[in-house]
Amino acid sequence: MSSNEPLIKDCGTLYIVGTPIGNLKDVSFRVLRTLKEVDLIAAEDTRHTRKLLSHYDIHTPLTSFYEYNQEKKAPYLIKKIREGANIALVSKAGMPGISDPGYHLIKKAVEADIQIIPVPGPCALVVALVASGLPADRFVFEGFLGRTRKERINKLKTLSEEKRTIVIYESPHRILKILPEIKQTLGDRRIALARELTKKFEEIMRGRVSDVEKIFDQKKPQKPRGEFTLIIEGAK
Ligand code: SAM
Repeated sequence: MSSNEPLIKDCGTLYIVGTPIGNLKDVSFRVLRTLKEVDLIAAEDTRHTRKLLSHYDIHTPLTSFYEYNQEKKAPYLIKKIREGANIALVSKAGMPGISDPGYHLIKKAVEADIQIIPVPGPCALVVALVASGLPADRFVFEGFLGRTRKERINKLKTLSEEKRTIVIYESPHRILKILPEIKQTLGDRRIALARELTKKFEEIMRGRVSDVEKIFDQKKPQKPRGEFTLIIEGAK
């Protein structure tokens, strides 16, 4: 059996489709073709995905699949695939499953012996890492560190001996809090803070934590805006 044949006869396929992290042109021919040819697209944010689809004149039906309906919706999507539907899973940005709800459906599809075909696209952590100038041959990805200071400090403490480059996702309203927390737990290490990658206001701030803090100081009273990915050098 070739790897592209369905595992269950007459069963559909779940395509895990990577979509742009900002720039709508960062999309492959294969991604567009998959989105055009599947029966249904399960999207984390249907309004957001609709913009991508209308940009490329794609009219495939959309259904929502996000954090708060994933438990209820996954069995319905699995049933549809088992009945023969081909479904594409997309998230708001990047690769589904990386710090977004995709994982739940992928796990259920694996358990149901459903054929899964990944159709790769950009992923913010990889894009930020390669542009950081910090070693990218070995790294750890920690996702979001947490909402409370206690959660973040505890996670950072567990990373204090980590020798590999550390990659973190952070929201704009927590970025000014996390910089002093990093200095306190890991020291004034070299970092790269990538903002709005692939978008109009793309910016990559490099230097020690204190240098990046100064950049934000100079921008005051403007608050940090946009999407941030933080790369931290590993322990010496
Ligand atoms: N699945 C996505 C991926 O493959 O990159 C990540 C989803 S996660 C919910 C969203 C986080 O990714 C943001 O809070 C930010 O930390 C990071 N991110 C997404 N787009 C970005 C961009 N254009 N520039 C910098 N970071 C970005």
